Amino acid sequence: MIPTCDLAAQYHSIQPEIDAAIREVLEAGTFTLGPRVRDLERELAAFCGCEYGVGVASGTDALRLAMDALEIGPGDEVITTPFTFVSTASEVTRCGGTPVFVDIEPVSMNIDPAGVERAVTARTRALLPVHLYGQPADMAPLMAIAERHNLRVIEDAAQAMGASYRGRPVGSFGVLSCMSFFPTKLLGAYGDAGMIVTRDRAMADKIDLLRRFGGSTRYRHDRLGYNSRLDELQAAVLRVKLRSLARWNARRREIAALYDRLLAGLPIVLPRERRGALHVYQEYTIRTPRRDALQAFLGAREIETAVYYPLPLHLQELYRDLGLGVGSFPEAERAAAEVLSLPIYPEVSDDQVEEVAAAVRAFFVARYARSSE
Ligand SMILES: *Cc1c(COP(=O)(O)O)cnc(C)c1O
Repeated sequence: MIPTCDLAAQYHSIQPEIDAAIREVLEAGTFTLGPRVRDLERELAAFCGCEYGVGVASGTDALRLAMDALEIGPGDEVITTPFTFVSTASEVTRCGGTPVFVDIEPVSMNIDPAGVERAVTARTRALLPVHLYGQPADMAPLMAIAERHNLRVIEDAAQAMGASYRGRPVGSFGVLSCMSFFPTKLLGAYGDAGMIVTRDRAMADKIDLLRRFGGSTRYRHDRLGYNSRLDELQAAVLRVKLRSLARWNARRREIAALYDRLLAGLPIVLPRERRGALHVYQEYTIRTPRRDALQAFLGAREIETAVYYPLPLHLQELYRDLGLGVGSFPEAERAAAEVLSLPIYPEVSDDQVEEVAAAVRAFFVARYARSSE
């Protein structure tokens, strides 16, 4: 069986360091917002080209607190992509704002800046691009649009920690950038965790207040806050793993290059790195109209694959009220029907990648043989 991710294998590759880090936390006896959280905040902010990090309970909470800190509320529009995980839009909705979806570019499958320009209205407050699968969104035109219309930019960098665009790390473009440490992300905790990174000191302070019940000192509450803290155990684990992140991302790029070579010439669309960008391959996502049959074929050969995401957000029951039917965003809808993510994780071997590629090839050979009968 070749899985899409092997967290036990990753643990075994760094077991002594992880075990020691966890034991230290248990001995120290501080479990929320302690020294390890502060160290991780500093290290991760630096990794993303920012000055401040604020650890929170999940990537979803990072988005939620970002919206709150920017005071997005009823009547405010936030432009984002319909081809993403639900949290990107749900946290706009939760704070009373309206997500305004814009279709994706067919190649990168990230939000199309030309569509963004057309979607701006007098009520638009912010742009919320997602760096899907580890590929940066087209930040130059997006930042120019934001500048022109005086909009805030919030990056959903949950899938792209370590990616860069024209030499600048993802996470350093927005006023606030949201990270997820969900276990299967590029940098995964052993449970839920997230962070907001920023270069804006006042914003960092405001979010720090929000994550601990809206108060800077104990039992004094200045505003309506949350309990959304990053805990010391997760921070300790993440600090150990952060030391390997650049190496792991480099290995992902190596695997992607191997897939590129082995899958060339097949009637499938391969992922293509944006010019001037560094893709970190949270996913290696191919496209074919025969996606479901290919997935079943690979599954029968013990090769696990995944579909991110089978239903774009504008077609979810959750967003029925927006009144956006089938055909509203044809590129997102076509992507949802065609994408398939193949196994890619730092511990997968070249032999396993070759086995996956051979199986994909066998599917299309079998297809051709049958259609020429
Ligand atoms: C994972 C993810 C989130 C949510 O992060 P959690 O830590 O799971 O709450 C948000 N946006 C995107 C694009 C994601 O991939």
